[in-house]
Amino acid sequence: MNIVIFGPPGAGKGTQSNLIVKKFKLHQLSTGELLRKEIKNKTSLGNQISFIMKDGNLVSDKIVGDLIEKYISNKIFKSRLIFDGYPRNLVQAEYLESLLKKYNQKIDLVLKLSVPLEIIKKRILERKNLEKRTDDNEDIAIKRFQTYENNIKPVINFYKQSNLLKVVNGEGPITEISDKISGLIEGIKG
Ligand code: AMP
Repeated sequence: MNIVIFGPPGAGKGTQSNLIVKKFKLHQLSTGELLRKEIKNKTSLGNQISFIMKDGNLVSDKIVGDLIEKYISNKIFKSRLIFDGYPRNLVQAEYLESLLKKYNQKIDLVLKLSVPLEIIKKRILERKNLEKRTDDNEDIAIKRFQTYENNIKPVINFYKQSNLLKVVNGEGPITEISDKISGLIEGIKG
């Protein structure tokens, strides 16, 4: 099964993805993580994208599209992917459909973690003290939240139409949220 998980930066989608990955033996495909790795390793792609990411803007659809194809085309990950941070706009959502089709796969479930901006700001500032990510300060946090919300609306509608979307309240304790998510996954496994 392939799952897409949505939630603005700081909504806890990374944490929840990790838990689902372990429980259901899936592979987490976080485009943000892959891109940060490129920057950390100072690859030519990393140098090209570091300023875009620092400003809280989106990297080009072509760059992230090529990154995810490497995973979708790999037999090891076939129908075992959880997409975290992709798709971020309608072009990417449509590209994901076509890529999955190309490799005889589909999306089985789309999860949206919903958390208000005030809570996100609090979490981002807490995380800043722990991880020291350069894109974690309050102004950038708000920018990333707004960029995310603006781009994601049509994507959410896209998945609503195909009846794959489940909205999960992401405000409660981590275990409570992961129990809800597990229930939804077990529901589609039948
Ligand atoms: P994330 O870890 O998902 O919050 O992503 C961190 C940053 O990586 C974003 O602010 C973007 O600059 C970039 N990024 C991650 N995923 C994508 C994507 N699907 N399309 C474009 N840019 C992305």
